[in-house]
Amino acid sequence: MKLSKSLYTRGLQCVKSLWLKKYNKDVLTEPDDYAKAIFAAGNKVGDLACELFPNGKEIPYEGTTFEEKVALTQKWIDEDLRNIYEATFEYDDVLVMVDILHKTESNSFEIYEVKSSSWNSKKKIKDIEKYIHDASIQFYVLKGLGYNISKCSITMINSDYVCDGNLDLNQLFIHIDVTKEVIELQDNIPTYLKTFKKYLSNKENEPEKQIGEHCFKPYKCDAYDYCWKHQNKIPDYSMFNVFNKGNTIKKKMRLFNDGIVNVEDIPDDELTTEEQKLVVDSWINKGLIINKEGINEFINKLTYPIYHLDFETFTNPVPEFKNQKPYQQICFQYSLHIEHENGDLEHKEFLGKEGTDPREEFVKSMISNIPSNVCILVYNENFEKTRIKELAKDYPEYREKLLSMLENIVDLAEPFRKKDYYDYTLKGKYSIKLVMPLMAPHMADAYKKLNLVQNGGDAMNTFPKLIDMNEEDIKKYREALLAYCHLDTLAMVEVLKSLKEKVR
Ligand code: SF4
Repeated sequence: MKLSKSLYTRGLQCVKSLWLKKYNKDVLTEPDDYAKAIFAAGNKVGDLACELFPNGKEIPYEGTTFEEKVALTQKWIDEDLRNIYEATFEYDDVLVMVDILHKTESNSFEIYEVKSSSWNSKKKIKDIEKYIHDASIQFYVLKGLGYNISKCSITMINSDYVCDGNLDLNQLFIHIDVTKEVIELQDNIPTYLKTFKKYLSNKENEPEKQIGEHCFKPYKCDAYDYCWKHQNKIPDYSMFNVFNKGNTIKKKMRLFNDGIVNVEDIPDDELTTEEQKLVVDSWINKGLIINKEGINEFINKLTYPIYHLDFETFTNPVPEFKNQKPYQQICFQYSLHIEHENGDLEHKEFLGKEGTDPREEFVKSMISNIPSNVCILVYNENFEKTRIKELAKDYPEYREKLLSMLENIVDLAEPFRKKDYYDYTLKGKYSIKLVMPLMAPHMADAYKKLNLVQNGGDAMNTFPKLIDMNEEDIKKYREALLAYCHLDTLAMVEVLKSLKEKVR
């Protein structure tokens, strides 16, 4: 009964999760497209990190058994190879693959665990505790086999790095020395392993484990649907969703342990904010709230013509453009519907050229299409405002014009966030994708008819891929991107129209 590094860390989070992974995999939720994209980006980052330790060899994953991997690792160590990628070892029934194993001048070994997440000067070691467990089990195995390990590092993306146009791997990556923390964890590992083996030796009986905070820490468990929805019968919208702000997990678990799961069962004295009271009351009475005063207050902030604006961005752990930071949101597209007082609509748009840094052209186009002092309407202002501030910093020649836009932005989400318009089916949320089917159902149908790009995630993934497509596909996908973003601002026009009708 062998454990891998990932099974070991899974067991640390929850023994039931470990057991399910071994014996009842079918109940686990498959990773979604977003998780797969993160995984793919992680692989790319891992390959790049190997370049920091050149002239090494990689143990092939495909086409070899673990025994062969272990034997090949041993062979290369015996041949005095200084850098081995995916070096594979087994000890005490634990199999580990070390991302980068480096042999030093003094013939000790260094372990580098590569992560695609970012590190910056404000972070503390405790923020990466989950990764230290990854390194600690590798240290345990190698130490047990008699290797002299002089250092354990977590290699992460340095989010303070700004690319000058030429990628500098030594600045992109940062090695966080966790040797001390890893050594401190060693004494506990045999006990953990014993516990895991005890549970796994009982193939027939799933471990009993109450749901709780550990289901989300350090990762959302892939048995969430099974344990929460199937076994504990927690509905999609429950008491857990009502108390969803701040650190309310203790309160939620207390209520759950008292048998309170459904929204309608929450005692009145547990509802401590006006918003909670409103949301619960609406749910119980299947209510619709239209606060005309609040909605009118919002509408009165608008002046014609209204510039309905929406951005699309992509992000990448490895910057490729001058003045780009890791994971920076790069604006590559916008759609702009200009609504005149008589109802006439004009449409303007921008979509960057594939394979280029789209930001400066994006800025130029946007400021030429949006005059000073006009009313700019966005949905969820934080996103657009933050991007505009970043662009103003990166392109100082347009700074003044960009920053002046900030003062004219009005947030269409406001009446929904404030619950001036609230339907119980919104279940406490107010994203435009949820609000739109209520306010403008015909627009929801239009989204369903979209091809290739149907949501922000699709748009984000599509733009960076255009450069690798043939001409025909580039044309097809560019059209799909334009159609999608066009619909986003048209939806805003329709939502506003419907909002006005509600107070007529
Ligand atoms: S959902 Fe929670 S209780 Fe269930 S296996 Fe995962 S961590 Fe354990």
